[in-house]
Amino acid sequence: MTARAQILTRIERAALAAGRDPADVTLVAVSKQQPWDAVAAVLAEGQEVFGENRVQEAQTRWASVKPSRPDLELRLIGPLQTNKVRDAFALFDAIETVDREKLVRAIAAEVDRTGVSPRLFVQVNTGAEPQKAGILPKDADALVALCRSQGLEIEGLMAIPPAEEPPAPYFTLLAQIAAANGLEKLSMGMSGDFETAVACGATSVRVGSALFGARDTQHVARTDLTE
Ligand SMILES: *Cc1c(COP(=O)(O)O)cnc(C)c1O
Repeated sequence: MTARAQILTRIERAALAAGRDPADVTLVAVSKQQPWDAVAAVLAEGQEVFGENRVQEAQTRWASVKPSRPDLELRLIGPLQTNKVRDAFALFDAIETVDREKLVRAIAAEVDRTGVSPRLFVQVNTGAEPQKAGILPKDADALVALCRSQGLEIEGLMAIPPAEEPPAPYFTLLAQIAAANGLEKLSMGMSGDFETAVACGATSVRVGSALFGARDTQHVARTDLTE
């Protein structure tokens, strides 16, 4: 069994154990910092949804691949600077990291300019960690309201809970904020905790190292030099 097949089986089991339909959980293959051979192998297995955390690295890797693969879905799961919004629109089908007013306004302006919008998620800093991106839980309702007032449709919420703590309370908090705002999609869970996330209601899980192996940081260093 391939790593992907094993992960899909674990997602299915976790969903069924929680009384959920496994089809309601999407595996997002986090291909950041992975060598192309590993990504190509997962593509060849039929994986269509990929997550990247840097706009430039994603462009280098996917811009030439995407036109010939209409079913490919790319999601930005890393922080987005306002000066990269235009590039992000050109490449990504979804932006999961809407987390501040300035970015909301830049995205709204780009939607006005282009007439199209990627699917949008608001990122919540569920653990209120100073080093982490995301809107604070107490400010999340207001940011969702701001998005809506700007004509942006928010599909769901995304979070990366604190690494050193049990994640379930943070997943539950994200689900509560989503429910309070009438949002259905929850992007939560990574290699170490995706089954817990599914039990807590995740509709997409972002899995990198469990799928591809440990990330190749050397590869990133080289990519950065050539960009
Ligand atoms: C890197 C990354 C992941 C994947 O992490 P793994 O532990 O390798 O599965 C998921 N989400 C985000 C936002 C990431 O940056």
